[in-house]
Amino acid sequence: MNLCDRNDIQNLLARHGFRFAKSLGQNFLIEDWVPRDIAEACIVDKQTGVLEIGPGIGPLTQQLARRAAKVVSVELDRRLYPILAETMADFDNFTLVPGDIMKCDLKALVAEHFDGLRPILCANLPYQITTPVLTACVESGCFDSLTVLIQKEVAQRICAKPGTADYGAFTLLMQYYTEPELLFTVPNTCFLPSPKVTSAVIHCPVRKAPPVEVVSEAALWRTVRAGFALRRKTLVNSLQTGWPLPKEQLTQILTDCGLRPDIRGERLSLEDYARLANALSAINP
Ligand code: SAH
Repeated sequence: MNLCDRNDIQNLLARHGFRFAKSLGQNFLIEDWVPRDIAEACIVDKQTGVLEIGPGIGPLTQQLARRAAKVVSVELDRRLYPILAETMADFDNFTLVPGDIMKCDLKALVAEHFDGLRPILCANLPYQITTPVLTACVESGCFDSLTVLIQKEVAQRICAKPGTADYGAFTLLMQYYTEPELLFTVPNTCFLPSPKVTSAVIHCPVRKAPPVEVVSEAALWRTVRAGFALRRKTLVNSLQTGWPLPKEQLTQILTDCGLRPDIRGERLSLEDYARLANALSAINP
């Protein structure tokens, strides 16, 4: 059985009486170059432990299990368990973890399964939980890299440069923790059922140390969130949503940080936000 052949997949699913659940973001890969290229892109070897989210019927899981020391896949849809038992039967380095990734303790999962291995994350993510999943993964601090197939728009947001429409708070979060790179796009015809949007694969090596120094990460994210809260207003107005200080005082702080008083939040680099957050927390801790 070829897990990326449309007929084989439809036969397998029919035999198990499986119907796609839109609410679970189920779009299965049906072109074999896609899982192969994702597995190549994540840089996996026999010293690597891979956490996969949403294996589906296992096309990417198989590619990963061939290359990795271990693959652990968290799948929420119990109807897929008997299918995975069949498609992954030949791989003794594969473990299925039933459950919801949003309720998993990632640190505990990695510690339990990947002792002595280099832990990475690799997945064709359920698109409706892309942002919270990636946020949890980078904040957990337990992966060496993240390689994910996601909606192209989200990939562009993650990799965006200051001053562009795609640039936002999520960009800065991902770029603070990782060095994201958009590797290639995947047309919607590569999925069953076919989603409306184009997809893309990003590879995000996790930084060993933060790229900027901040007094407190909480103050940095408070500043970033406030900086993007009112996108059409100037930074001073937008900042007031998170730092309720008089306008004159905020203007002075911007000037002290070397920023023009009429600048907009989307123009600031991560370094600018770090400097601003440090100045703000010194005044209003
Ligand atoms: N990796 C497969 C399937 C991708 S579709 C492929 O590329 O073909 C997304 C998968 O994520 C589905 O199997 C879906 O059931 C699963 N999923 C959705 N929400 C989930 C959650 N909260 N936790 C774990 N798995 C989830």
